[in-house]
Amino acid sequence: MKKPFATLEKLEEIAARIPTPFHLYDERGIVENAKRLKAAFAWNSGFREYFAVKATPTPAILRLLADMGCGLDCASMAELVMAEKLGIMGDGIMFSSNATPDGEFIKAAQLGAIINLDDITHIGALKNLTGIPKKICCRFNPGGSFEIANKIMDNPGDAKYGMTREQILTAFRELRGLGAEELGIHAFLASNTVSNDYYPVLASQLFQLAVDAKRETGANITFVNLSGGVGVPYRPEQQPNDIAAIGDGVRRVYEEILVPNGLGDVAIYTELGRFMLAPYGALVTRAIREKHIYKEYIGVDASACDLMRPAIYGAYHHITVMGKENALSDHIYDITGALCENNDKFAIDRALPKIDGGDLLYIHDAGAHGRSMGYNYNGKLRCGEVLLKSDGSFELIRRAETLDDYFATLIW
Ligand SMILES: *Cc1c(COP(=O)(O)O)cnc(C)c1O
Repeated sequence: MKKPFATLEKLEEIAARIPTPFHLYDERGIVENAKRLKAAFAWNSGFREYFAVKATPTPAILRLLADMGCGLDCASMAELVMAEKLGIMGDGIMFSSNATPDGEFIKAAQLGAIINLDDITHIGALKNLTGIPKKICCRFNPGGSFEIANKIMDNPGDAKYGMTREQILTAFRELRGLGAEELGIHAFLASNTVSNDYYPVLASQLFQLAVDAKRETGANITFVNLSGGVGVPYRPEQQPNDIAAIGDGVRRVYEEILVPNGLGDVAIYTELGRFMLAPYGALVTRAIREKHIYKEYIGVDASACDLMRPAIYGAYHHITVMGKENALSDHIYDITGALCENNDKFAIDRALPKIDGGDLLYIHDAGAHGRSMGYNYNGKLRCGEVLLKSDGSFELIRRAETLDDYFATLIW
């Protein structure tokens, strides 16, 4: 069963000071999970997680992860500037972008970030803009479909990212000629995998490519970036990934492929977003309306503007009606926001206990790609964010938007 990380009493205490809706994050959960990740890859002395900033671009969260030794994976000007403002620079930043504007290459280079080139044509662009840095990465796309044990996990052949195998070998030769001394390989081939096999299978492909690249181009491969994609169990019946088993699986292919080929010093990098944050954040919202027509509806004070995964992906987010955890789920509801869009629903035909006006709903696993994906349709203002500290106190870490924020860009 999925359990909220905060009690009804704590949520009401917070809501008395910070009105619903708000995103709530669990400091203890974030820190303990980051420790588990570190332990799982402790066998690799160069290991580093670069948290995917887009998942939860909130300074207090990024600082918490930086304090645990994480770098930041950035993909836009705002994300680069956020890293800079947090004092994270140099190889603390991985810049994994695509269709990259000139200004972002220049900013990334100024900060000394590790630049992950999405395409072979970016070499010429970067050379002309800033010159080629000594440590640089190339993104790989093997095409076709990505399978684990004959099961298709995703379709890299349809994805806009990365270079073909031939391109990446050519890119390494060119980059070496332009002064690059340390080269890395990156790939993101399947999203939200709830499988302990994803990273090991991905790693074996990238490690083999590293061996081939070293042999065929003389490239000095010093790191392999497994990127994101380790998922979380959004549904209560799913088994969570075992990060220790995942780290061990990567170690086994590392020892099998890299070590015998003289690549036993290669550092493993990750760019996890969802795995680091999703379960440790929740959208807390209050039931404010109910209606009975052809179906039963509960209207809440949050909308897809605060969490759009259900609206755009049909994604499942588990919901706990606070204080009714042990009540029978004998009502079938659509849980809706107020947007004039029929897909503004957090749940459809969901069996839940009877919901009364004023009940607090805890929408699980909203800590990554939640608040950050929000938008302002219907002029709805996005909610704020609160950190529940390990000692039980709480702190506002992003205020809710105001009408002034919304009107700030308008020209009358
Ligand atoms: C989105 C993204 C990530 C994080 O993905 P998760 O599924 O949240 O782990 C990592 N790297 C890149 C390049 C991304 O675009």
